Parts: sequence; C-alpha cells; structure tokens
Amino acid sequence: MVDTRTQPVSRAGEAAPRFSDADLYRLAEKHGTPYFLIDEETLRRKVSEMKEGFSEYTGAFRVAYSVKANFNPSVIRAFTGEGILFDLTAPSELVFVQKAGGSPENVMYTSITETAAEYEQVLKMGVRKVVVASYNGLVNLSEAAARANVKVKTMVRVNPEVQVHAELRGSMGHGKFGLQFNGGSPDSALSVLKKILGTPQLEFEGFHFHLGSQIEDPTCYAEAIEKLEAFILGARRQLGDFRVGTLDIGGGLPVPYGKKVPTPKDLGSKIVGQLNSLVESIGDRFTLVAESGRFLTAESTILVTRVVNVKSFGDAKYIYVDAGYNVLLDSALLHHEYPVDVVPGGRPSPQKVALVGRLCDPLDVFPTSSRSKLGGAGVGKLVVFREVGAYSLVMNMPFHSQPRPPVLMRNSQGSYVVARKGQDVERLFADEGGDCLPN
Ligand SMILES: *Cc1c(COP(=O)(O)O)cnc(C)c1O
Repeated sequence: MVDTRTQPVSRAGEAAPRFSDADLYRLAEKHGTPYFLIDEETLRRKVSEMKEGFSEYTGAFRVAYSVKANFNPSVIRAFTGEGILFDLTAPSELVFVQKAGGSPENVMYTSITETAAEYEQVLKMGVRKVVVASYNGLVNLSEAAARANVKVKTMVRVNPEVQVHAELRGSMGHGKFGLQFNGGSPDSALSVLKKILGTPQLEFEGFHFHLGSQIEDPTCYAEAIEKLEAFILGARRQLGDFRVGTLDIGGGLPVPYGKKVPTPKDLGSKIVGQLNSLVESIGDRFTLVAESGRFLTAESTILVTRVVNVKSFGDAKYIYVDAGYNVLLDSALLHHEYPVDVVPGGRPSPQKVALVGRLCDPLDVFPTSSRSKLGGAGVGKLVVFREVGAYSLVMNMPFHSQPRPPVLMRNSQGSYVVARKGQDVERLFADEGGDCLPN
C-alpha cells in the first residue's frame, strides 16, 4: 500500500489547482486509472486573468473561448456562467455549446470550409457574427444570409504575415488561414471588405487575426496591430469611411508547462497602449476580443495515471504507466512535455529515468526533463501529468482498443463529480463495428 497521509502535492506553477494526495488516491480507487480531473474554479480564474490583462483598454473587452481546445460539456457550461463569447468553427461545436447552455448570440463563427450549406445551417441556428477568410466564403455567406433572410455581422480574417515564435504558427508562410491585406486577387482583405460594404445582407463588423498557439514572444501581436492600422487607414482612403466595431486579436496566450511564460498582464502591457492609440487614430472605440483555448483550459486539468511496472535497462530506469499517447496525443505528435510528478514524491533517482506508456509503439514515451519530478516512482504509485486541459481530451482515441478514460471535475462547490463517464470495453467494441457483425 502507498502511504497517502501526506500534505497536498506541491508544484511549480503557483496558479495551478491543488488536489490532496488522499483525494487523488481515493478517486483512483473509485474510478480506476487513468482519469482526468478538472478544477472548475481554475477555469473561472483564467477568464478573470484575461480580463485583468486588458483592463486598461479604453473600450469594451470580451474574452472568447475557442471550444476546439476542450469541448467537454461541463467545461463549456462553466464558461457560459462567465458570460463570455465562444469561438466556433463547426456546426457540431455549436450543438455542443447550445446543449451545454450557451447562446448563439455569443458565438463568433470562423469557418475553415466556408460553404453556403454550413453558413445557412449555423445562421438558422441563430449565429449572427461570422468571420470570413476567402472571397468564395464571402459569396457563400451572403447567399446563405439571403436564404435565411437574416442580417449578418461580418468580420474579415486577415493574415498579417508576421513572424511568430510559437509552438504552432498560423501566420507567416501559412496561407491556410486568413487573407492577405492587399494583393491583386479577389482573395484580399481589401476586395472582401469592399464587397461586404456593398452587400445589404451583410454588416461589416471588424477584423480578426489569429497568429498561433503558445506564443511565448508577444512582439508579433504588436506588429500585426501596426500592419492592421496602416491597412485600415489605407482602405478608408480607397473605399470611403467604414466603422470598425470589433477587433479580435485571436488566441495564442501561452501556458507555463513548468517554464516562465508571458501572462495576459504581460501581453496587455505590451499592446494595450497601442490599441488605445489605434482607437484614437481610426476614431472607432471598437470592442476588443481576445480568444483562447489553451490558456483558458490547460492549467485546470491533470491526468492521473498509475505506475504498473518498473524495469532497469542498462543504466536507465523505465517507469511504465497505465496510459499512453492515446490520452495525451501531442506528447507523441509534437513531443510536447507536460510537467509530471509522482504522488507522493520521493528522492530523485540517481539513474536516468524514462517514463513510458502502455502502448506497443516506440513513440509511446513521454518527454520528460529536469522539470519533471519522477523520484519515488514505484509500482502502485500515482504519476500525475499537469496542465493537460487543452487539446488532450478532444484528441483521445481508442488505439490498442483502449476505452476512453473518465473525466472528473471538482466543481465550484468543492464536490467531485463525473464530467465524462469512462467508456467500457463493450461500448467501445460496439462503436468500433462490433454492432455491425452478423449474428
Ligand atoms: C485554435 C484557435 C484559437 C485558440 O488558440 P489557443 O492557442 O488555444 O489560444 C483561437 N482562434 C482561432 C481562430 C483558432 O483557430
């Protein structure tokens, strides 16, 4: 038996939730391992941190949650209580938001496919704010708006083509997202803007850009805003006056993952002054929107696994846990390192330690560094992966016939509740085609 009569686990990031060792072992007995555990209060606190970061902005500021990072209904529900916007990119995401209690009034819809059928579907479901990113998309949106007989607030997604230092870049050299400012073809922000201003069914609302994810150097935001300002002033000379009602600076706020990274306050202090000057120079006190998936959700959640075996190989110690990249895909895909620790911890091992998963695949090794604390790992002990709330649950997959693990939540009242039931193997078998077998 593992002694759990210890103090609450200590950890590097001071903002992260704390769970007592005893609670983690009790939940492991009750629900099995691995399991995810979300702290609702941390979700809420992240929204406040974003608001504080932009509190010096002279106009209205709104947080938008990018649902793709974590579409768990309890997570969406927690955010609906905070009165924020939702950044969506698929009709099925809209179904999730509505069923979880969100309103289509608070949706900003940014499609990648931009088909008329998709636009018509979401307009009929009540969406009224859409971000377009291609000429065809704009034509499709105006057709859909005419068919649905509604007026749509339309934003233009620009790609400011700035250098971004981030884990995932969405700007320079990545033409998949957004429009170039100028450029000869109809697929430029200028020609799309002109067309919106001439389409009665559409009301021009403002601009949007999204530079990337886990942006550790905020300079790119300042550069993008500078380029956008020059574009707006130039476009007004050519197209006449138009009002900018909203500026959406996209996502990308970083998460510590055991390191020091800029906070929303740091980003705010870098660009809010510039945004306030932009208000003066264009004469529109636009609503400022900052989106986030990663920052809002990552730190709220841990993944709890159990050590099932240890082995020596040469001078290294291998620690096997009962989870694999089927539950943390980006650790294999992007070699993304989550902070890991053993609960309760022990003295650091003098040997080199490798933390490996249960899948029969050489990629199933969790990246670890000096930031991970693996001392004291022995069979039966819990190993906790921290800050896993973003882009993990949503990528769970059944590789190796692995049912999806349960997701638990400590709600704002302090009770532990189930936020997603664990899948049992019977259900998995049926979903994978077992129910198609002839009798
Ligand atoms: C993915 C995405 C986001 C969220 O990015 P994070 O890195 O999670 O903050 C925001 N906006 C758009 C358009 C996105 O595609």
